[in-house]
Amino acid sequence: MIRIAIANQKGGVGKTTTAINLATALAATGHRTLLIDLDPQGNASTGLGIPNLSREWSSYHLLLGECSVEDAVISTKVPKLDIITATQDLSGAEIELIDFEERTHRLDNALAQAQEGRWDICLIDCPPSLGLLTVNAMVAAQALLVPLQCEFFALEGLSQLLQTVDRIRARFNPALTIMGVALTMYDRRNRLTDQVADDVRACLGDVVFNTVIPRNVRLSEAPSHGLPALIYDYKCSGSEAYMGLARELIARLPQRELAA
Ligand code: ADP
Ligand code: MG
Repeated sequence: MIRIAIANQKGGVGKTTTAINLATALAATGHRTLLIDLDPQGNASTGLGIPNLSREWSSYHLLLGECSVEDAVISTKVPKLDIITATQDLSGAEIELIDFEERTHRLDNALAQAQEGRWDICLIDCPPSLGLLTVNAMVAAQALLVPLQCEFFALEGLSQLLQTVDRIRARFNPALTIMGVALTMYDRRNRLTDQVADDVRACLGDVVFNTVIPRNVRLSEAPSHGLPALIYDYKCSGSEAYMGLARELIARLPQRELAA
């Protein structure tokens, strides 16, 4: 199982929208997918229609060692897509974990105990910070997917993210790679977003996915129906873009990781 963390410490850049719809696209193309909601806001869980009451065991309990991956996994309405949900408890985890042993490896260790071969791909939806939750995701992951919003300050904060990645590599996880940067909320009628997309490509090069996620109202409506956009309206431009992103992502994955 390859583990991919979706991270950017800025809020509102499309991490959760990407997590939900990429996970759905991967599942739809036959990959058994596990989505881990690691944001106390629990938007990925809500967006996949999992009510709060069903989240008896969540990523919070998993990090604290109170349950196993198998206890916490819930299947979603999407065939081949499972989720480990998040609840507001998780906002306390950063503090509660301070006294725990191996506090940066809680997620990694929990996933290592999971049944082998049950999923092909695991996506981790990170909170908008570089705190202990995101660090746990980066320690557990082999690769990072970074959504960048096409706006004037897109690249601001990226150096901080890259510094964190360097520190994680140096201390805990030397093999961590940045597998791709996904441009989100692209508006082709707006010349500024075009300019931003060009600048980001000039600056970051090939690491930027060719697929660009357009600004599309269906993507923002779908979560209120508890559905991925890919089910809510599979023909909308947002859904098509996430299918394209999934294809590109699969092409970038080492095939042996997928098989493992
Ligand atoms: P993050 O997880 O990085 O905080 P979200 O995925 O929750 O970001 O997105 C922030 C807001 O923008 C949400 O209301 C979401 O529905 C909306 N949104 C995200 N991506 C798009 C898009 N491509 N088009 C339109 N709205 C979007
Ligand atoms: Mg989010």
